Amino acid sequence: MELKPFEKKLYLSSPTTHGEELKYIQEAFDTNWLSTVGANINEAEKLICEKIGCKNAVGLSSGTAALHLAIRLAAEKLYGQPKVGHGSLEGRRVFCSDMTFDATVNPVAYEGGEAVFIDTEYDTWNMDPVALEKAFEMYPDVKMLVIAHLYGTPGKVDEIRKICDRNGALIVEDAAESLGATYDGRQTGIFGDVGVISFNGNKIITGSSGGMLLTDSDEDADKIRKWSTQSREDAPWYQHEELGFNYRMSNIIAGMIRGQIPHLDEHIAQKRAIYNRYREGFKDLPVTMNPYDEVRSEPNFWLSCMLIDSDAMSRQVRGERDVLYEKTPGKSCPTEILDTIAKYNAEGRPIWKPMHMQPIYRMHAFVTRDGSGRARSNAYIDEGAVSDIGMDIFDRGLCLPSDNKMTPDQQDMIIEIVKRCFVEHPMM
Ligand SMILES: *Cc1c(COP(=O)(O)O)cnc(C)c1O
Repeated sequence: MELKPFEKKLYLSSPTTHGEELKYIQEAFDTNWLSTVGANINEAEKLICEKIGCKNAVGLSSGTAALHLAIRLAAEKLYGQPKVGHGSLEGRRVFCSDMTFDATVNPVAYEGGEAVFIDTEYDTWNMDPVALEKAFEMYPDVKMLVIAHLYGTPGKVDEIRKICDRNGALIVEDAAESLGATYDGRQTGIFGDVGVISFNGNKIITGSSGGMLLTDSDEDADKIRKWSTQSREDAPWYQHEELGFNYRMSNIIAGMIRGQIPHLDEHIAQKRAIYNRYREGFKDLPVTMNPYDEVRSEPNFWLSCMLIDSDAMSRQVRGERDVLYEKTPGKSCPTEILDTIAKYNAEGRPIWKPMHMQPIYRMHAFVTRDGSGRARSNAYIDEGAVSDIGMDIFDRGLCLPSDNKMTPDQQDMIIEIVKRCFVEHPMM
């Protein structure tokens, strides 16, 4: 196969639109509902409730805003309403997914809480229930958990739910990446006490931005609608008895989302085909794809990722912002593959760097399955350190171009480029 750079850049995951989004956006203009009220918001919320099987979905300005209010809501249930000027989690620890986007955990800090990071497992690349058990032994006072489903793959929600129930802890479920994925036939986003989805530009469907908070409680949904619109009380004037936020979804954004929702299943089918094509294409390489529970779960395959076998890894050394690697015949590393596909005008991405290794969170506790509760002393590869599963996946894994507009021919090119990284060094 002759390899040449793609004429048009191949993205990791870019918006895929269908035209009917514009119809609903136009409707917002025509009816002049150009604010955070309107038919598109109501309809988008209704469609998401039907899809996910929850009673309420509240449209908000982003997934991050939804996480912030979800965490505040859970904190209020546990610890009561904070005094104005104070976070709802001050002096409290919260267990959080470690290998995830930082938007999952930042709202804990917004509310003055302290995230305790729980290590990752190899089966689904999500929170490890074994490490979570250890964490409850070490920190029995913790009553809240924030979990994400990475790259669209459901985590071990059943085990995690049981552990949390036994310890009386509430779950905030970050399904921002996993909209449409199921576990035991149920949609992600409804396993937690409160759930969150996102419509950011690179997610499986998009409003260009936006998010929703999911809950079966009408009372909680009303509260979130109120908090997200500056907490106005029912009075003839602007009466404020609780702290408010300006987090409600715009009716224009909701129009785009309304036009995208009917295409969710089609996007998932395209992403699944991409995943399966990579899996088949790489079957003779010393790599595996991001795994999932093939009996109990159906991911949405948002991003296809690969993990290089330990003994096929060339030497790669990562600093805080820089990286070095050695070219070794027969071996490769994420940096070499990402650099090489970039030379061909395609976009991949490293795995989310675990939160316990982020400079802003490095002093926070980190709990692994052996309960050691310590972060590595620095960012460089510490050969012999085995219990930090998240860092191992970060070291050896990467996200492949997963755009649902990628053609089979283009994907075959990517597969060929990756193969050659293990045997020779094209365009070096
Ligand atoms: C995208 C994302 C978010 C945040 O959603 P926004 O709508 O971008 O604010 C939160 N958590 C995870 C895991 C995400 O991937």
